[in-house]
Amino acid sequence: MSSIQRRQFLRFTGWVIGGIALSQLSFPREAHADPKIPLIDPKDSVAKAVKYIEDYKKAPQAKGNRCANCSFYKKVELRTGKEVGTCLIFPAKYVYADAYCQSWAKKA
Ligand code: SF4
Repeated sequence: MSSIQRRQFLRFTGWVIGGIALSQLSFPREAHADPKIPLIDPKDSVAKAVKYIEDYKKAPQAKGNRCANCSFYKKVELRTGKEVGTCLIFPAKYVYADAYCQSWAKKA
C-alpha cells in the first residue's frame, strides 16, 4: 500500500468512524432505564392531588383502568418483578404499570 493509498484509507476510516459517532448522537436509540430514577411516592403532593394509588385493584373508581393502558404511560423496565414506566404527569419519576390516578386517559 502506497503512502497515498494509506492516507486515503485512513481518511476514509476517519469519516466512517466519525459518521457512526455522529449518528449515535443524532439518533439516540430507545430510552434506557435509569436506575437513579425513583418511583413516585404516593405521598407526593401531586400524587395526592390526582389520587395516585400504586394498585388499581384497590381503587374501585379505576374500573379496570391502570397506568399500563393510560395514554400518558410508557413502559420502561421491570423493577423487582413489577413493570414500571414514565408518566407525563410525573417528570423524572416512574409509576407502576398497575397504578392508577384520576388523570387516567384512554390510549388512542
Ligand atoms: S396519568 Fe395515567 S400513567 Fe400517569 S399516573 Fe395517572 S393513570 Fe398512571
